Amino acid sequence: MKAYDGMYIGGAWRPAAGQDVIEVVNPVDEQVIGTVPAGTAQDVDTAVRAARAALPEWAATPPAERAARLAALRDVLVARADEIAETVTAELGSPLKFSQAVHAAVPIAVAGSYAELAATYAFEEKTGNSVVHHEPVGVVAAITPWNYPLHQIVAKVAPALAAGCTIVVKPAEDTPLVARLFADAVHEAGIPAGVFNLVTGLGPVAGQALAEHPGVDLVSFTGSTVVGRHIAAIAAGQVKKVALELGGKSANVILPTADLAKAVNVGVANVMSNSGQTCSAWTRMLVHRDQYDEAVGLAAGAAAKYGERIGPVVNAKQQARVRGYIEKGVAEGARLVAGGPEAPREKGYFVSPTVFADVTPDMTIAQEEIFGPVLSILRYDDEEDALRIANGTVYGLAGAVWAGDEAEAVAFARRMETGQVDINGGRFNPLAPFGGYKQSGVGRELGVHGLAEYLQTKSLQF
Ligand code: NAD
Repeated sequence: MKAYDGMYIGGAWRPAAGQDVIEVVNPVDEQVIGTVPAGTAQDVDTAVRAARAALPEWAATPPAERAARLAALRDVLVARADEIAETVTAELGSPLKFSQAVHAAVPIAVAGSYAELAATYAFEEKTGNSVVHHEPVGVVAAITPWNYPLHQIVAKVAPALAAGCTIVVKPAEDTPLVARLFADAVHEAGIPAGVFNLVTGLGPVAGQALAEHPGVDLVSFTGSTVVGRHIAAIAAGQVKKVALELGGKSANVILPTADLAKAVNVGVANVMSNSGQTCSAWTRMLVHRDQYDEAVGLAAGAAAKYGERIGPVVNAKQQARVRGYIEKGVAEGARLVAGGPEAPREKGYFVSPTVFADVTPDMTIAQEEIFGPVLSILRYDDEEDALRIANGTVYGLAGAVWAGDEAEAVAFARRMETGQVDINGGRFNPLAPFGGYKQSGVGRELGVHGLAEYLQTKSLQF
């Protein structure tokens, strides 16, 4: 157990204003592994002032120099990749291999992509008799969740810094240690004091103070729909910009011509990955009625293999929440074909990989984000029915389509109300815009579209 001290503000670790701390728990064995300070409105104010003070110089720094700092940051992250993976494993509980392959590797790729974009982006363009300057939005507040704790920080910090913005990050309560490691990496990369600041703390205290702070120009939030709505309302009151990455209930549509076994196996793996704690997870599998029983059998078999392989969910509250959803699925008449609500181990916040068959579109488990290793398999009659079901939730973050012919899958994907669709198992692309249709959010992250979120335009006429 280590008592970590201080907030990273204005280029140094400074003592927190208050005495309160947050305990960080390892979800595998429920042991407290450390404490971090619980920031107050005063810490937030100090951090926002530091970010404001650093803004003019960083905004005026040539993009090539900002790119060089981001490249240095990427290099530090590469050098500390093992430490990143170990830290995420300790506070999130994900298996070490997954932490290395995803929790460390993806943010490295994203940091690298923004080092390149900062160097190549046209921050100035001509249209008619005007020159349009793309200028930084200003001071950014980033409020992030625990499920991909470093990725979600880097997906905001890297584009913000590339754009010339300065930033204050309030990471999730459950995963502040990798955020602290990141602050050290920023320092080591020589990013000027005040450009990046970190305040750990509780959502309703430090998060709220940050979202409300008048010195913040843009709030970028990733997390639950409930808190996202609340933050959007605060931002609306102050007419400040807001970007929201919220939940999902994404559909994995398996058309009759698809390779069924592959589509089901990849679909199950997608849901079980990170113990189901992925906003873009394909938690609804849609199968034609003629192939339904075969698909259910395949999915049950695939899920059984994950029993010992997946980590726990993040905390006791999340475990109770996921088990509650499984109980609700049973109560509403869905058929359990793998897993169930019982905890598979005595210690740790584990949930059994669970698969439900006979799920109908109106059931709670077909509508609400569960955020655990739970798959719902729904039956469709024809393509129009599949489309209605796929589009029949308030969310629209991601999805998948499988078909024998790529053009057939693309034609279906074009009709889906969602921000990303993987065609026949297409791979994650860190340059592709990521974000939601409908209540899955506002704005886009990653790549050039993610950079644009942190820029505003000024037109000069000649
Ligand atoms: P949350 O929305 O409560 O937390 C996300 C972040 O918001 C954290 O940093 C938290 O401290 C902060 N926060 C909380 N209340 C705040 C407030 N009033 N003002 C400002 N900031 C505040 O999410 P959670 O409780 O950790 O998870 C609950 C559910 O959210 C999950 O079960 C899942 O369904 C969903 N979720 C979605 C994502 C995603 O990537 N879209 C990520 C995590 C959780």
